[in-house]
Parts: sequence; C-alpha cells; structure tokens
Amino acid sequence: MSHIDYENPVLASDLLKQAEDANPNKVDFEKVLKNIDPDNRYKICQECEHFRSSLRQCKKCGCFMPVKVRISWSECPIGKW
Ligand code: SF4
Repeated sequence: MSHIDYENPVLASDLLKQAEDANPNKVDFEKVLKNIDPDNRYKICQECEHFRSSLRQCKKCGCFMPVKVRISWSECPIGKW
C-alpha cells in the first residue's frame, strides 16, 4: 500500500513528465481536447434513438453521456460521432 510522503511531495511537473514518458506516440492531448466539441456530441446523442433521456444514458454502451462526450478519446459505439 502506498502512502503520501509529505516531506517529498510529487510536483505537477513530475507528473507531467511521467505522463509524457507513458505516451510513446507523443499524442498532443491538449490539441486533442481542443478538437472535440462536447456540446455537439451531446446534441447528437439527444437526437439519437438509443439515448435514454431520463437517465442521460446511451442504451448501446451504457455510458452516462454528459461525462462521456467530454472524454476526447471516447467514441459513439455506432459511429455517429
Ligand atoms: S453514443 Fe452514439 S449510440 Fe449512444 S446515444 Fe450517443 S449517438 Fe446514440
């Protein structure tokens, strides 16, 4: 079990470096995030026959769509966005 080392806190720059090291394909996440349009994705869902509006959930993937549309690498299971 890990513990928090208050004497040597992890710096944000360390975490960023770790994230970069774990990203061998050098995906530009900032660029990816800028290229998504969550509002448009959600609008498509709201007009979709597979959208359960009472729960704001997709019946195909089971996801809670207000969150999923904001995840840059997420996809509609039937390719609508
Ligand atoms: S993710 Fe796709 S299938 Fe699911 S509700 Fe949205 S548009 Fe419809």
